[in-house]
Amino acid sequence: MGESFDIREWFLNPRDLLVISGPCSVESREQLLATAEGLSKIDRVKVLRGGIWKPRTRPEAFEGIGEEGLKWMQEAKQRYGFLTMTEVAVPEHVELALKYDIDILWVGARTVVNPFSVQDLADCLKGCDIPVFVKNPIAPDVKLWLGAIERFGGAGLRYIGAIHRGFSSIEETSYRNAPLWEIPIELLRLRPDVPIITDVSHICGCRELLQEVAQKALDMGTLGFMIETHNDPDHALTDAKQQITPDSLKNAFNRLIFRKKKIDTDEMVLQNLRKEIDEIDDELLNLIAKRMNISEKIGDFKKQHKVTVLQMGRWKQILEHHINKGVNLGLNGESVKDIFEIIHKDSIDRQL
Ligand code: PEP
Ligand code: MN
Repeated sequence: MGESFDIREWFLNPRDLLVISGPCSVESREQLLATAEGLSKIDRVKVLRGGIWKPRTRPEAFEGIGEEGLKWMQEAKQRYGFLTMTEVAVPEHVELALKYDIDILWVGARTVVNPFSVQDLADCLKGCDIPVFVKNPIAPDVKLWLGAIERFGGAGLRYIGAIHRGFSSIEETSYRNAPLWEIPIELLRLRPDVPIITDVSHICGCRELLQEVAQKALDMGTLGFMIETHNDPDHALTDAKQQITPDSLKNAFNRLIFRKKKIDTDEMVLQNLRKEIDEIDDELLNLIAKRMNISEKIGDFKKQHKVTVLQMGRWKQILEHHINKGVNLGLNGESVKDIFEIIHKDSIDRQL
């Protein structure tokens, strides 16, 4: 468990999965200690998380227990040997967290969207050697995430990690925050030196999806997990639907398939590139299907207006345009021609 775990060493060589767990919000001494006690039975858990100040959408919601909770975090650390971790959003949080020996900080998704807030935090962390994890901003904007990491780097912090917690999206999905795996992959490409872990709880928003998303994250080469646990999840004051008991966490770990005990960095790069290709192919198929639907509508129009299906002039014109554009993009002109001939043929068939 926690006692002998060296987080700075992990940053230098993040081979073993970093597992961070604990309640969404610290609610009471009893709740925190009972949760920590349960977690102390899971070897993999090295870091106890607990939200002390909660960024809530509506002002009447529970906004965190405040400074008192930090004392309980300290007590849990002394009792069970965990490292402790909390969210900071303003410089005052940083001062208090340091006062109570919090070992690791994280910056939340709602704070990362605001460069002024991030800069204030970075300024007040100057000269500290505390590890800081930067969650992705709620908006799917890799540059904003990168910018926050750069601001902390600019303040001289040496131990900076990233937490992938999913993104808000207007489209209905089964997730609370759509994972959009291509964004952490892009961050990894831009900053291979920044280890990324996955907050499966905030991606899922419900217990039922946790196992599946944790497995996916593992298969994508995640270097760790943040998972919310509570001794009595149904009565949690925040994020009740997504929290699980420490016992369920233990079972979830037992069900995870570890494809390799140690993650080989080269292998991870290859895996990520392949995932990226898969996502692009998926997108291509969606686009082709969308194109065919429009094509059918054009077919209906032509039928109504008694126009022939094959419009040779237009076809020649678009084919030439696509070949030129493809060549300009560095593609093989012959292949572009083949691809569009197949698409066009299919389109024509649908209009007949
Ligand atoms: C949290 O970890 O409890 C939290 C508020 O996270 P996020 O910033 O990802 O919403
Ligand atoms: Mn939460």
